[in-house]
Amino acid sequence: MDYSTTEILIGKEKQEMLKTKTVSIIGLSGIGVTAAQILVRNGVNLRIVDKERVYEKEAPRYTTYIEDDINKFKAKQAKKRLEEINSEVKVKSFHEELTKDNVFLLDADVIIDASNNFKTSKIVNNFALSKDIPLIFANHVGRKGHVLVVDRKQNKKGACVECLEEELNIGSIKEDGAYGPTAMMVAALAANAAIKNLIGIENVEQLLVIDALKTEVRHKNVEKKRTCKAGKN
Ligand SMILES: [Zn+2]
Repeated sequence: MDYSTTEILIGKEKQEMLKTKTVSIIGLSGIGVTAAQILVRNGVNLRIVDKERVYEKEAPRYTTYIEDDINKFKAKQAKKRLEEINSEVKVKSFHEELTKDNVFLLDADVIIDASNNFKTSKIVNNFALSKDIPLIFANHVGRKGHVLVVDRKQNKKGACVECLEEELNIGSIKEDGAYGPTAMMVAALAANAAIKNLIGIENVEQLLVIDALKTEVRHKNVEKKRTCKAGKN
């Protein structure tokens, strides 16, 4: 992979730095697999976790997978395609359901939570905060998508995923539908937040609310709840 045009922007040293970093991604549907592809194309190593299959009904929101991947396991097919895209990166894949007992699989320089499952998100949030690993939460349902950066090294007072449960826990794709470009916008913003974090560019915006049909990305500053205990148990 030739990174020379990115190097014009971020410098050779930071591009070299990306090659030494690892991001873990939980959830390999539209957001997760697209964020994975962006990161791999930028030289970042990955740890990817998902227990499900590549579903045809999710295909309008996918990148990376091809028709031949339908009904096969996401973790395995994503690893295969991502390594075909950039053979220089290391992709470790785990075909497992994420629980409290195996959440350590996500140990990396940055975690992206694209699980679209709030029960899983709480486990990931707690793990990331307890280990002081920067977390990027990314989801979408219906018209709306969210990207939340939780990084207590940069922002001690920033809200975590649990603090914003009411705002981020937004219904089901089965009932409310979903839109491919929203998933891809969310994925691009999440991958961007991860890259910025890895090379030391501050993520000023904490919460982004995305609506692709309105062509809208809103920034919101969100504060930690005083009662928040996440990461302490
Ligand atoms: Zn919190």
